[in-house]
Amino acid sequence: MEGMIGGWFSPRSCREAAKRLAAGVLEDGLSWERMLLRLHLLICPPCRRFRRELRVLSAAARAWSGALVSPARRAELEKRLLSRFT
Ligand SMILES: [Zn+2]
Repeated sequence: MEGMIGGWFSPRSCREAAKRLAAGVLEDGLSWERMLLRLHLLICPPCRRFRRELRVLSAAARAWSGALVSPARRAELEKRLLSRFT
């Protein structure tokens, strides 16, 4: 936990933000996490684009299967998106 907040504004903060986006923090996270994530999105166009891609991806996957994406499939897709940040 220590240094977590500081990490948001380090050069690696996009990676942290992307991980949290993929984990659904914006929907289910703690309020301070959601706030920091929104702040990061405000100042960071690449992460806004990443967020949009995540949404499109999960919507498309739902449409294909007619059901929620399996956790394994979801993790795989998210990993692929996240790899751009690592
Ligand atoms: Zn970012």
